[in-house]
Amino acid sequence: MKLIFEKSIPGRGQDIFPACDVPVKMPAAPLREKKAHLPEISENEMGRHYTALAKRAHGVNDGFYPLGSCTMKHNPRINEKMANLPGFAKLHPLQPAETVQGANELIADLEKMLCEITGMDGVTFQPAAGAHGEFTGLLLIKAYHTDRGDTERTEILVPDAAHGTNPASATMAGYKTVVIKSNENGTVDLDDLKAHLGPKTAGLMLTNPNTVGLFDPNIMEITRLVHEAGGLCYYDGANLNAVIGIVRPADIGFDVIHMNLHKTFSTPHGGGGPGSGPCAYKDFLAPFAPGLVCKDGKYVRAEKSIGNMTGFYGNFLVMVKAYAYLLTIGKDVHTIAENAVLNANYMQEKLKDLYPIAFDTTCMHEFVIGLDPIYRKTHVSALDVAKALLDYGIHPPTIYFPLIVHEALMIEPTETETKETLDEAITAFREIYDRIFNAPESVQMAPQTTPVLRLDDTKAAREPHLRYEFCDCE
Ligand SMILES: *Cc1c(COP(=O)(O)O)cnc(C)c1O
Repeated sequence: MKLIFEKSIPGRGQDIFPACDVPVKMPAAPLREKKAHLPEISENEMGRHYTALAKRAHGVNDGFYPLGSCTMKHNPRINEKMANLPGFAKLHPLQPAETVQGANELIADLEKMLCEITGMDGVTFQPAAGAHGEFTGLLLIKAYHTDRGDTERTEILVPDAAHGTNPASATMAGYKTVVIKSNENGTVDLDDLKAHLGPKTAGLMLTNPNTVGLFDPNIMEITRLVHEAGGLCYYDGANLNAVIGIVRPADIGFDVIHMNLHKTFSTPHGGGGPGSGPCAYKDFLAPFAPGLVCKDGKYVRAEKSIGNMTGFYGNFLVMVKAYAYLLTIGKDVHTIAENAVLNANYMQEKLKDLYPIAFDTTCMHEFVIGLDPIYRKTHVSALDVAKALLDYGIHPPTIYFPLIVHEALMIEPTETETKETLDEAITAFREIYDRIFNAPESVQMAPQTTPVLRLDDTKAAREPHLRYEFCDCE
């Protein structure tokens, strides 16, 4: 397929308006010295160009997308419609307060809903992503310790199965990350936790269920131990679809949590659009909340606020979608988690006679295949299997993560897939298994039907060629 610049022909697509026939009076300073490099192409050709590109991409609307820890699920269109209502979409953050009371009410209502879901007491919607929510939560933890004069706490404990953003956020917040080992069941090793807890512990960050899809059976003891050592407990709630409506993070000992509205709460994830990672906290952290907090119907600065995490209220239209989503689901919110867990277990159960499951037990919203034993026998890798799925119209799962599983394939079917889709995916996985043993090269050479075949990953990483190189002769 040609690039749009290669399709460009000087003078094309310039005929919608007649040429300017009056003198242009512009001061010279803001004028370009050279013409901008814009493709010159007719509207018709441009439409076709972008449609062709869209057809070469794979999204949730094209097929199954079991990308672990990403929740690439279907988001009901009605929520997009609500966010597109001009009363929401055309608001300006600098409008006078009396003209945005409805929006404020929506935020306050959504805060109440998320408090009910998490068991927390307050929510800030300032963070614009999950990692941003983690950073916010850690700054709250830091402000809490500092405020009490407890300044020797410099360490955040993070299990080795954690999402990569956890240690990154801890570092951003000025903490040293201390890695806690997983045990042979894939959950937190209590002895290793105890060995690392102490007067330097500021807190623990935990994803539960964790990235291998397991709910930690020792969670009550884990959070108790951290509290006893004087630390706080941070819950990475990015994948709240695993437990929403069933388990409240506050009830299992957590003090602060972030959620990904752009995963669990009806904003598409991974589209490059705006996200929202609201951070919910217990009352004792409220004095440090960022942005403005609602007190007696007025928005004011919390007394010891950590400041602003972003401009204004956060990404408001993402909140509108979350609000509409929760209103339409209502008291059935637990069905999100039930279906997410059911779908993952169904796939795991239907594949485990062939594929080695990393931790073979009832999983939550996702499960992890450890392809290592098969790789050793056949030299067919997790990457090869992921590429082979492309020929079946299936987006590959997350691969080589979590790091504690060798040749990992991390599968999150999500709650919105039908049994028929899961069955098709299961058939694809089983066929690929057959090919691994009977025609391994066919898997190692996959994909064969996509617009581009196997790419040279190393070259792509080392010599990214992202910009069209114009000959500057014009
Ligand atoms: C997605 C995810 C995050 C980070 O969210 P972003 O919005 O991508 O910053 C953090 N933790 C877990 C477990 C996740 O799955």
